[in-house]
Amino acid sequence: MKPDLHIVGAGLTGLTAAIEAAERGRRVSVAEAHSRPGGRARTPAAPYRANLGTHAIYVDGPWWAWLERRGLTPPIVEAPPHASLVRAGGRLGPWPAELSQAIAALPAEAPAAESLRAWLLRHVDARTAEAIVGVVFIFTFDHDPGRLSAAFAHQRLRRALAGGVRYVIGGWSTLVDLLAERATGLGAQLRTRTRVPAVPEGPTILATSLATARGLTGDRSLTWPSARVTTVDLGLRADGGPDWFRVLDVDDRIYAARYSLADPTLAPPGHELIQISAACAPGERKADAERRVRHLLDESWPGWRAAVQWYRSAVRTDCTGAIDLPGTTWHDRPAIGRGNDLTVATDQSAAPGLLAEVGISAAQLALQHLDEASTSTGAHVRV
Ligand SMILES: Cc1cc2nc3c(=O)[nH]c(=O)nc-3n(C[C@H](O)[C@H](O)[C@H](O)COP(=O)(O)OP(=O)(O)OC[C@H]3O[C@@H](n4cnc5c(N)ncnc54)[C@H](O)[C@@H]3O)c2cc1C
Repeated sequence: MKPDLHIVGAGLTGLTAAIEAAERGRRVSVAEAHSRPGGRARTPAAPYRANLGTHAIYVDGPWWAWLERRGLTPPIVEAPPHASLVRAGGRLGPWPAELSQAIAALPAEAPAAESLRAWLLRHVDARTAEAIVGVVFIFTFDHDPGRLSAAFAHQRLRRALAGGVRYVIGGWSTLVDLLAERATGLGAQLRTRTRVPAVPEGPTILATSLATARGLTGDRSLTWPSARVTTVDLGLRADGGPDWFRVLDVDDRIYAARYSLADPTLAPPGHELIQISAACAPGERKADAERRVRHLLDESWPGWRAAVQWYRSAVRTDCTGAIDLPGTTWHDRPAIGRGNDLTVATDQSAAPGLLAEVGISAAQLALQHLDEASTSTGAHVRV
């Protein structure tokens, strides 16, 4: 049967859109360029199951509730109670309790018009302000989170520290497989290895990155700031390693997490999987970011170099979701509806949420837009 909704991209956003659209009675066709669905939520096969992008899933968020309603929640695990280390002022030590207390004591609301740094300096001393800015790196990936809108950074800080962070057991492909299976079970056609060269005719959701949607549509207004980050993934022999689960370098904006400590299925027995993000300022070379990462590992994991079994690194630009600068909020990002039949639902679109959740709420807003458009034009929609 001819589809009445085209979805381009089978990442988390496209798969969520496919499920919800099929539930509403639409005949859905999903085209995915890669050989497997998942996009940035793909996890490679063993031996080291290093997630490409997504790590944390937020069980206090709207997407988790959406998954729960459909019986689609994947098996998850909390961060283990192992040490969290912080490097601040050039010294590596345990996560300072004063930092958590200072964050908890901040006002409940922060202004969108002011930068995070300027706002923090009105509430805490300069050293604590820079430490909080360093914490905000973990979930904004920005090289200088102090420059971001205070409201944007503060809402995410609250969410990230509220205790809702979990990790998907087996890597995010576990969840991707559940979503793909449900979408096809509801009748959606999922075609992998199918790169769409131009915007399809008829109702469409472009569920790609914002940059790809810009290329497909030729619409240069499809742009919004995002971060630049160098990622380093490491498979290590574990013998004699230290006891930490994560290390945050607030001076150098690096975050390292030993995900195999939370989920041992991610690495072979006796091995560890560590995934590291290092902020990359505009123009900073990958080699220089990797040098900073190696320096942090030398301090936090003596002997790591001799234990390396697998190493992968990349610079990721515009891959970590939207960031809002002072004076802007998510409402100012590129609109989802681009005319009657075309919608663009990405993690840099005008939708609320944290990281991947933005794409997912964008998918729901896209379906709402298409439903309203077809109602106003009298087009037939089976609901
Ligand atoms: C290092 C890093 C860490 C992250 N950590 C987290 C985290 O901890 N928690 C979190 O929630 N989020 C995190 N994110 C963000 C998260 O990965 C993304 O927000 C989310 O995966 C985006 O999903 P998506 O479906 O919108 O886009 P994508 O995953 O990019 O999916 C788009 C799909 O479209 C396909 N495609 C592109 N062009 C075409 C075409 N022409 N034809 C057909 N198909 C096409 C692509 O192959 C891809 O599969 C992180 C990202 C990175 C890079």
